[in-house]
Amino acid sequence: MIAIDFSVFAFLYVSVGVAMILGLWFYYDRRDKSLYDRVRVRTAFHCVKCGTLYTEQGEHDHAICPHCGFENAKLKF
Ligand SMILES: [Zn+2]
Repeated sequence: MIAIDFSVFAFLYVSVGVAMILGLWFYYDRRDKSLYDRVRVRTAFHCVKCGTLYTEQGEHDHAICPHCGFENAKLKF
């Protein structure tokens, strides 16, 4: 049997716990980012024909106005 000092054991015990928490935090952060990026990222458009403001999910350079059907370029801020 391996004999280790109690302070070494306590240090390893806490280190493993902290490493597990950080690992789960990193895993769920990356998972949420990949799952919800498509939903969160929206591109805003302003129709030059009818004046409607609308958004489309994801990154788009052009989108068709849902009100009049005119194709508009994305808004640049
Ligand atoms: Zn329009």
